[in-house]
Amino acid sequence: PQVGMIPVSALLKEVVLLTESEALMKGCQINLHPFQEGDMMISGDVKQMKQVVLNLIRNAMEAVADRADGLMGIIEVGAHREGSEVRMFISDNGKGMDIRTLDRLFSPFFTTKENGTGLGLSVSDRIIKNHGGCISVSSRVNEGTHFVISLPLIH
Ligand code: ADP
Ligand code: MG
Repeated sequence: PQVGMIPVSALLKEVVLLTESEALMKGCQINLHPFQEGDMMISGDVKQMKQVVLNLIRNAMEAVADRADGLMGIIEVGAHREGSEVRMFISDNGKGMDIRTLDRLFSPFFTTKENGTGLGLSVSDRIIKNHGGCISVSSRVNEGTHFVISLPLIH
């Protein structure tokens, strides 16, 4: 594994760039929020970190595509400092989740998709825990979902 210092802004920018054109083709927009403070640094495996952000953005794209009313999908991506931690967020105005889905979200092989593997979130959760952080989520059916990745900052 490639362990090192990772600038949060570059991490998010790179994954948004990677997913943006696919999102636009699906009629969905990704907004990368500007960073207010100077760059924040985290420590870890950059490949794994990119994989986590990619998993969450992919899920968001799939959630907005599944919205019943065909409303324009919008995904918000950003980060801010909270004490000694960074909080990266990925929010969508997609189909949202009910309690039963929220309860099982991070279980391996849990999926509500026809062709889903149900591995994206369990793997992401494991990666973030291995880096001393956590993933939290809040969601409302037919309104959207808000994921937050909290990780220790390096100063
Ligand atoms: P997969 O994407 O293969 O189904 P994941 O582990 O990535 O597996 O996600 C598990 C389940 O969590 C999904 O099938 C879906 O029901 C739910 N989910 C994850 N992210 C979102 C989201 N942003 N909006 C709505 N549901 C979501
Ligand atoms: Mg997934």
